Amino acid sequence: MQTFDSHNRQRVLHELGLGPMWLLRDAEPAIPVAVVETRFEPVIVPAPVPEPAMAGAGSPVKSAWSELEVEKSKNLPEVQPVAPVVENTSEPDAWLVQEIVPDMPTEDMSQTSQEPAITTLSWDELQPMVESCRQCGLCQGRKKAVFGTGDQQARWLFVGEGPGYNENLQGLPFVGAAGQLLDNMLKSLGVPRGEQSYIANIVKCRPTDAQGKDRPPTADEIAACLPYLHRQIALIKPQIIVALGKTAAVSLLDMDLETPVGQLRGKVHQFKGIPVVASYHPAYLLRKPADKAKAWADLCLAIKAIPAG
Ligand code: SF4
Repeated sequence: MQTFDSHNRQRVLHELGLGPMWLLRDAEPAIPVAVVETRFEPVIVPAPVPEPAMAGAGSPVKSAWSELEVEKSKNLPEVQPVAPVVENTSEPDAWLVQEIVPDMPTEDMSQTSQEPAITTLSWDELQPMVESCRQCGLCQGRKKAVFGTGDQQARWLFVGEGPGYNENLQGLPFVGAAGQLLDNMLKSLGVPRGEQSYIANIVKCRPTDAQGKDRPPTADEIAACLPYLHRQIALIKPQIIVALGKTAAVSLLDMDLETPVGQLRGKVHQFKGIPVVASYHPAYLLRKPADKAKAWADLCLAIKAIPAG
């Protein structure tokens, strides 16, 4: 199990732009909220007040929230604390519930006809196959396929939804402002891009709508492209996977696309025995910076989920 000392925690908070946070008093538990996920952004709505044990002393929820409690600094701007997501459940240990998903046999990773060949490919064979792939319609608008980047023996794998405008032009994942925020998160974890971390997407080519704007990939596009990510995971053998955004999480975990975010975040899922933690996409965090606090809680959960040794 990794340790994460106070200095590193404060460095992560700074890199995430959280700045100083409030001390949470025992007598004033965090106000719970429920999150209803739309296609792109969760909408926060009032939720029933949880049982006292959920926010009481020593509860996992409070423990994660306490990670954000640092004293105000005269040199940094004041920010409002944001309560962590509390699932609307009566089970007090829901924050760290280990979701048991039976391991699939290795042979079961195939989802399309080209998969049997993919499962045997090396890195040097896989990338050119992706770059010339025509397995779905996304190849038609492709400037450059975005294969992925980073340490090929990385401990941390970060998975996003798909390339956007700039990624399509450059052939690299997570460029621009969202990429800069992700880079800051990686550096704060001590796994800067290219060192102990790898970044990839569910689909390798940019999905666009009729107006040429970014859109989520369809189920068929995901099914066509997912074997490439599966092969990347098999080659990397990461110790932890962080799914950035709802599409990445449900695709990787083979869950319904309409799965509420409350069933994704705050749990350690499994992909072929590898722990998976769902968090927010950096582009969403740029639009909703207050949710960086929740993203920090997700990273804390991911650190705890890394197998010991
Ligand atoms: S998105 Fe994936 S499956 Fe579709 S053309 Fe690109 S590489 Fe091939």
